[in-house]
This record gives sequence, structure tokens and C-alpha cells, in this order.
Amino acid sequence: MDLERINKTIEAAQQSNMPDYDATRATFTWQAARQEIDGFPGDRLNIAHEALDRHVAAGHGSQIALRWIDRAGQRNDFSYATLQCRANRFANVLRARGIGRGDRVYSLLGRVPELYVAVLGTLKAGAVFCPLFSAFGPEPIRSRMEIGGANAILTSARLYKRKLKDWLHELPELRKVFLTDGHEDGTEDLWTLMADASEQFETGRMAPEDPALLHFTSGTTGKPKGVEHVHEAVVTHHITGRLALDLRPGDTYWCTADPGWVTGTSYGIIAPLTNRVTMIVDEAEFDLDRWYDTLEKERVNVWYTAPTAIRMLMKAGADLVREHDFSALRFMASVGEPLNSEAVVWGQEAFGMPFHDNWWQTETGGIMIANYASMDVKPGSMGKPFPGIEAGIVEVTGDTLQELSDSGKTGELALRPGWPSMMRGYLHEQARYDKCFKDGWYLSGDLARRDADGYFWFVGRSKDLIKSAGHLIGPFEVESALIEHPAVAEVGVIGIPDETAGEIVKAYVALKPGFEPSDDLRLDLMGHARKRLGPAVAPKDIAFRHNLPKTRSGKIMRRLLKARELGLPEGDISTLESDET
Ligand code: ATP
Ligand code: MG
Repeated sequence: MDLERINKTIEAAQQSNMPDYDATRATFTWQAARQEIDGFPGDRLNIAHEALDRHVAAGHGSQIALRWIDRAGQRNDFSYATLQCRANRFANVLRARGIGRGDRVYSLLGRVPELYVAVLGTLKAGAVFCPLFSAFGPEPIRSRMEIGGANAILTSARLYKRKLKDWLHELPELRKVFLTDGHEDGTEDLWTLMADASEQFETGRMAPEDPALLHFTSGTTGKPKGVEHVHEAVVTHHITGRLALDLRPGDTYWCTADPGWVTGTSYGIIAPLTNRVTMIVDEAEFDLDRWYDTLEKERVNVWYTAPTAIRMLMKAGADLVREHDFSALRFMASVGEPLNSEAVVWGQEAFGMPFHDNWWQTETGGIMIANYASMDVKPGSMGKPFPGIEAGIVEVTGDTLQELSDSGKTGELALRPGWPSMMRGYLHEQARYDKCFKDGWYLSGDLARRDADGYFWFVGRSKDLIKSAGHLIGPFEVESALIEHPAVAEVGVIGIPDETAGEIVKAYVALKPGFEPSDDLRLDLMGHARKRLGPAVAPKDIAFRHNLPKTRSGKIMRRLLKARELGLPEGDISTLESDET
């Protein structure tokens, strides 16, 4: 890496929004964070006001809010003022049809501008927004609409005909179907309605606890849960966007997640807009050359992506990166799955800066643990708790919860509730929700450990923990060791029942281009793992796969590897991306 790049990285860290993590942590309060948003008198607020109205009122209406790149690669710009006008029109359309406070508006759309308009218009109208991923089949769409009691949905004519038409009329609470491009019986054309609607709308003054968003979890460990978030959540979105992603007004920012998942809404719509950045939205799916071109041409400053994508970039090699000019890039972050240390180091080599891993969940609504711009990154670690967040490692046995204060001990990752974007419930699943809390802690369901410097390390989901011959083995540790092998592109590790050991570790490996499965390679991988992990933890068996089963948000579904291995029912596979096993 050249000296110029090193100096730039140091400078960027010093000038970041949080130059001193410890100092910020010592003085941080959520009340003070609340002062950073505008709000309305009398403790009222609205996410859409923070995202749009306040910036337009402050004279930034002409700044580009959304730079949308359509499938053909054509760029279309929407200023803050334009987005505000369209959101106002959409809010008026809803109001004129009797849809307002507390009603639920769904979308089933690709990453098109109408989706962004609809989220903000719905929030302005005081209704609750629930984005659905457009690649879902009819069944997952239907169950999510039933669980949430959808009152309206915005979709395209194509998706309507293919996925909704046959059964939508059976939903008792559904009152309106809007199409972005055309008209079918029983639906209304959005743009005709928008053209007739006023572009003035007085944004709803909401109470902090009024519901705003409904998100379904990824379904990695089981049936997806419907998670409710409130308007107050914007405080977390805004401050984590500023301090954890280092967003600065005027930045160009690209979050690659689809708004059908919580990342694509919290950090693909709300946080970037409240921080007044220009968001890049690409309608197309992952494509290596296109991604690198976009990063370069759009001069992206902050990039938020996910391990699956990063692994694909790694597969293609660092040389490709060097063919581009990424001099505008200042900060790269990753979320959604454990980020192997290998990937962090690769980022440093290829881009001259590490990928900053951060950890959070649909339930937490925003970033909870992160590597910050000004902090040394320990590759493989999720970083430190966000200022204002107390994280602990706990052990629950029966009715008792014990905090494991000693560093290095593995236990369940727990958080002290009280931050604004914490979920307010699992829809219709009170018992499941109640089970998440014990002795003043929120239990995440993930296992982790904390080191002596206060960094948190992901171990695995508690459901995925492997118990083998008296050892507790986290799949992530084994996966990270295997992925260091030059032949390995992707790996998922599970425990399979064994009479003597209880469980044995089995790894499923997808190879990089140029490598073919063979017994020799299997032995080589086993040897590599044994050297790195020791014989007790290294896999006893390795199977080769072309691809691993993943959720549509890119998470390896270990439960599915296990079900298939054992010939058990596959359970809820509504979020499974078509896979080849
Ligand atoms: P479900 O709850 O339906 O099984 P899910 O937990 O995958 O699905 P999400 O809320 O989208 O649904 O994902 C949150 C989970 O993703 C975390 O609990 C954690 O297991 C994993 N995760 C997210 N970020 C990271 C990270 N940086 N490192 C390791 N794991 C992560
Ligand atoms: Mg979960």
C-alpha cells in the first residue's frame, strides 16, 4: 500500500465523526442524541420529517437525495425537494382513501424510486410501512401480509399478476392495491392518483411510541418473526449512521442491502437521509464489474455491504480492484453475517482500508456493536458496543442468569434494553417476545466473547453451537479457519449427531474457480483445519457443494444443511434463495 493511501486513512480516522470512542462513550446519553434530531413541539416527531422536511426547510432541497441507477445502467436523480413532493403526494393519496394512523401499508417492489417515495409518504401519513422482498413467492408474501394485517399494498403490474392476483381478495383487512405501472381490475394506478394529489402535506406529528415500521426477520434459524419498530427509532438510525458509519452531510453513500430487509431500510433509507447524504440505489442484482464501476463512477465515500458480497469480490481477486480509482472511498462496513478476518485483511490489501464489521439484528433496529473509523480494527472482531449501548456476555441456566465478566468466556450476547430502536414486540407472539428478556437483559440468541480490550467476537448462533466430546464449538471459528485455505470460497459448518462424541463437526465447502473437489483436496483441507484448530475442533468430515443454501439476504442457512444431512423436514424455507446442493 502506498504512503499516500496510509496517510489518507489516518487522516480520515482523525477527522471522523467520532475521533475518540472512549470519550464519546463516557458522555453519551440517548437524551442528548435525541437533541440531534429536529422533532416537533410537545415531544412529537416523525421519521419522514427528519429524513426530508427538515433538510428542505434548511435550504438543502436541491441536494440529490437519491441517485437511482436503473437496470440498464441509466442514472436518475431525485433531490430532497423532489422526494419530499412525491412523498407528500403519496401521503395525500393514502389519506384520500382513508388510510392513516396505525394502518399498515406494504410494498412488494424491486429497488425502484416508488418504493422510497412510498416508505416516506406512509410515515408522513402516520401509517406503518412493511417492505417485502420482491423475490418472495406467493406463500411467504401472503403469510407476512396476514400476520401484519395489511390494509394496502403497492406493487408492480407484473408482480401483481404473477404473485398476488389469485388470492389478494381473500385478505379481510386489505382495502387498496396500488400499481406502479398500469391498471388491473381491483387495483388503482399510482401515478394517476399521484398526479391528482397535492404536493403539500402536513407531516403527521407522531408520539415517540407510535408504530412506524414492520420488518420480518431473515428466517435463518426458523420461522420469520414480525418485528415492530416505532418513530422514536429514528434517534438510533440517525446517531448510528453518523457515529458508526461515519456519514457526513453531502457524502455519497451506497448501502447494497434491499429495503426488504431491515438493513436496507434503517441504513438504506432512514439513516442516510437523516444525515443528509446522497444515496446510491442500484436496481440490479450483484454484478462484480457493475459494482466496481458504480463505486468508482459515483465516487462513493461510504459503502455498507455484506460478507457474501465481499467473499464474491475476494473470489475475483484484488487485481480487479486495482484497475479502478476508488480514491473517494473513505469507509467500508459490513453486516449481516460474521465477517471472517480473512475478508478484513483482504479489504486492507485490495482497497487500502479494512471492512468495518458491525453487528445488529432486526430486533435491535440499528447498529449495536461496531468497528469505528477511529478505532483499531481487530480482524475477525465485531468491535465494541455503540456508545449508549451496554453489552454483556451472559449464561442462562434454568431460571438463573449469570453475567460472565471474565474476558475470553463464551456466552450469550446480551444487551441492556432502553435504546430507541429496540423492537416493541414480535407481532402476535408475545410469549416468544417475553422469552427474549431476563433479569434486565435482552438476550440476542447469538454467542460471543469479549476480550480484555473490550472487543466482542462472534462465536455463532446459540442454535448452531456444536457440542463435541465435551467441547463447545462455534461454527464461525471452524469456518474462518477453512476459508483461509486458498481453495475455499465459502463454507458452512454444522454438528451432526454421533454416538460417542455427542456431535461431530462437519463442513460444507464451496470451492473457488479453478479448484475441483477431490479426496486429496479434502485431506488437505482437513490437515489445514487440524493445524489451525487442533484435532478436537477441526471437522471430521468435509463435503463439497457448488453453493451453500442461503437466505435471500445472504446468510448461510446451517439449519438447512443439517436438516438435509439428517433427512429431517426443511421447516420454513420462505426466505431461501434457490440453491444448488
Ligand atoms: P431469524 O431471526 O429469523 O432466524 P436472522 O437472525 O438471520 O433470522 P436478522 O435479524 O436479519 O435475522 O439477522 C440478525 C442476525 O444476523 C444476528 O443475530 C446474527 O446472528 C447475524 N449477524 C448480523 N450481523 C453480524 C455480524 N456482524 N457478525 C456475525 N453475525 C451477524
Ligand atoms: Mg434472529
